Amino acid sequence: MPLSPKSKREECPKCHSYEMHNRVLARPGEDSAVYVECAACGEFVARYTLKRYTCEDPYRSFLRQMRHQRMSSGALTHKKGQEFADKLWEGWEEAKRLSEASEIRHMEDLLEEFE
Ligand SMILES: [Zn+2]
Repeated sequence: MPLSPKSKREECPKCHSYEMHNRVLARPGEDSAVYVECAACGEFVARYTLKRYTCEDPYRSFLRQMRHQRMSSGALTHKKGQEFADKLWEGWEEAKRLSEASEIRHMEDLLEEFE
């Protein structure tokens, strides 16, 4: 059976709020980390380590990631940037849709299934 995509909203283990703050920690020589804090009660909820970061302007993030790579033409760069942005917005919509219906209890259950 093929695996289907899944999504889950982060939930506070203490007060069950879905309101979160992300605190990003960048240290020399380490992957940057996002510490997720409950906005309602301040509880530590989770830490994610980052391979890549994409902001609300995906084309800008794409260009920053491509800084050290040679692209053969401006047209190709633009096309790849558009594909990058399209994939971002498609994933965003899917994450919102799937997480609304999710019955997954623990984030590890979701993340480990695809390892
Ligand atoms: Zn809380």
